[in-house]
Amino acid sequence: MEHFDTIIKNGNVVLPTGVRKLDIGVTNGKFSAVEKDLQNKADRVIHADNHYIFPGAIDIHVHFNEPGHEDWEGFHTGSAMLGAGGCTTYFDMPLNGIPSTVTVDALKQKAEIAENKSLIDFGLWGGLVPGNLEEIHHLAQKGVIGFKAFLSPSGNEAFEHVDDAILLKGMKRIAETGKILALHSESTAIIKFLEGEITGDDAASFAATRPIEAEAEAVQRALSFAKITNCPLHFVHISSAQSVQIITKAKQQGMDVTLETCPHYLLCTMSDLETKGAAAKCAPPLRDERENRRLIESLLEDKIDMITSDHSPCPPELKDPANFSLRKAWGGINGGQFTLLSMIELAIKHDIPFERIAKWTASNPAKRFHLADKGEIRVGMDADLAIISLDQAHTVTAENLFSRHKQSLYMDHTFPCRIIGTINRGTPIYQADKDTKNTGKGKWLRG
Ligand SMILES: [Zn+2]
Repeated sequence: MEHFDTIIKNGNVVLPTGVRKLDIGVTNGKFSAVEKDLQNKADRVIHADNHYIFPGAIDIHVHFNEPGHEDWEGFHTGSAMLGAGGCTTYFDMPLNGIPSTVTVDALKQKAEIAENKSLIDFGLWGGLVPGNLEEIHHLAQKGVIGFKAFLSPSGNEAFEHVDDAILLKGMKRIAETGKILALHSESTAIIKFLEGEITGDDAASFAATRPIEAEAEAVQRALSFAKITNCPLHFVHISSAQSVQIITKAKQQGMDVTLETCPHYLLCTMSDLETKGAAAKCAPPLRDERENRRLIESLLEDKIDMITSDHSPCPPELKDPANFSLRKAWGGINGGQFTLLSMIELAIKHDIPFERIAKWTASNPAKRFHLADKGEIRVGMDADLAIISLDQAHTVTAENLFSRHKQSLYMDHTFPCRIIGTINRGTPIYQADKDTKNTGKGKWLRG
């Protein structure tokens, strides 16, 4: 009888077709059996009675800021933090490190660091910025997972946004490589105009400078450009049902386009920005309750392809009201650890079957970015999984927040579930009840 490295006994396994009580065998980092009552012997047996086994989450949108800003996060703390949240694969964005990932040299530099430090598997985005059109093909050959561009200022002068002319040229080149262009879509013209018109520094004034119209206009324009250039698109952190609707229409017309939203747009509203200040500041901003409900409806209607964290932390000084007004404070949410927990909270609240959560957090991102070995608990695929208890709650504290800085929109929040353990390619990289040193060794998934 075949001997397994690991058997996970008697868990509620989240399969694409539903949740079933099964045993899971793991051999050489792959799922080798997913069936009832495995009798085989194994080096390690994990008893998962009453727990839920999700496919390891794939978070295609994080900012780890290394090299150059590892004091903001870094690959080691960042990947350990994601692992503690049930995530086994992530894609690091091309900005907020130094240098930005807009040349092959910068890509190689980042890949070397990440290969040494990341505890879980990862992909790397390249950037499309003014001045790097000549690098697009080289970056694609060297394995970027796709390209990212901003249609409005990124808040980081070292990663400039593209104007319409560069966007069109960049799309043409990216289409030639067969890769996907991920877009931060807000209209520069609308934001700049409103920043001149609106003077207040409260939460409502900040939100009013970045209205839904600014997002919808940029989304519509990008789709028009993609029609002309045949460039595959992915819209990051979509915050409004109006934008979802525009993208849904484009999909119905046969365009190659997907979108993500983030847990903070689903679980939080502008009132969190009012009460928590800059810890809840992001762009696009958190929306009001009505819009929040409409976005959840869009998700329930299956119009949103995937959920990402857009984990974008900074040192707390950059969000300290003693140093910066709300308008000037760093925009970005420290939330990478809580994507799966947030989505399970949402599932419980709205009666969403867990297989849909697994689709948004694992199988859809795997399919979109051609990770053939990932995204599902299935024999032959990478043994990436998260073991979750619904019998235990998880309250976020400075002690159990694993990102480098202990400031988060989710601080003191209680999730109705808890990550018990996370396994990446067969290796346990997080165990809630053990203070073990992480031993995982992440692999670069070249695109
Ligand atoms: Zn981002």
